Amino acid sequence: MKILVADDDRFSRLVLSRTLRFWGYEVEEAADGRAAVEALSRSDGPCLGIIDWMMPQLDGPEVCRQVRAANAEPYRYLMLLTSRSRREDLVEGLNSGADEYLSKPFDPLELQARLRIGRRLLDLQNQLIEARDALHRQATRDGLTGLLNRTAIIDALQEEQARASRRLSGLGVLVADLDHFKRVNDTWGHLAGDAVLRESARRMADVLRPYDRIGRYGGEEFLIVLPDCTRQVTLDVGERIRTALSSEPLLADGSAVSVTVSIGACWADGKPFGDELVRNADDALYVAKRSGRNRVVMEAEAPTESVRVAG
Ligand SMILES: [Mg+2]
Repeated sequence: MKILVADDDRFSRLVLSRTLRFWGYEVEEAADGRAAVEALSRSDGPCLGIIDWMMPQLDGPEVCRQVRAANAEPYRYLMLLTSRSRREDLVEGLNSGADEYLSKPFDPLELQARLRIGRRLLDLQNQLIEARDALHRQATRDGLTGLLNRTAIIDALQEEQARASRRLSGLGVLVADLDHFKRVNDTWGHLAGDAVLRESARRMADVLRPYDRIGRYGGEEFLIVLPDCTRQVTLDVGERIRTALSSEPLLADGSAVSVTVSIGACWADGKPFGDELVRNADDALYVAKRSGRNRVVMEAEAPTESVRVAG
């Protein structure tokens, strides 16, 4: 475990660092408050800080306040080191966000005991973060394909719509539906069907750009959100997905299964959007299915709202 020793006094810093290294800790040093805040704000920074009260730039309590305000994760365990011993000081130190209070000069046995408390709290904190992340994963991921689930991809679409409106940038939406999927299940069984869904999902995700979002929208239907793109890029990505599935059969539960996909595409520039993006992509998907499947169809060029108003 890495510990930050922040003290403007070179000699105190040296003694404390040497002691900690002797106990097997990795040590990073800071000679003033600003350097301490920087170290504790880095994502790979020390999780535990021993911070001198009196330091140039920022004093110890101010370091604690700034680290707490940044709300860094994982949690930073902060110990204030000081020769002050008045009750008001102790209260001020703890109110600034410090977890612990150590008097100077430190007593090695006491320091060891307090470090154990710090480690225990950090371990608990990490377990909580892991549990929270696992729950978040369960709540947002589709169990079969590992893609975003329906709720999460709709959330992602809304986020990207808001972002596109703010930046006046283009947003593409694809609705991809595996062709004749029921036949796969009927012919090769549900295990093969599941394997086809998993492998199709993997192939689709592989051809996307890193910031594109993809989720399982329904049984064999996928929703893909393409931020910051042109109408042409939306079509190109659709075509890449189509080719990725049809180019070679998928291996599913021991059988080679040929799969194709029909894709409805829709694109809009940064106007405020409603639900019409997905609806238009759905309409285009319907056209793709009717005109022979295994193809990408872009929504009609005409502005949809005026068409609707005109009936
Ligand atoms: Mg000092």
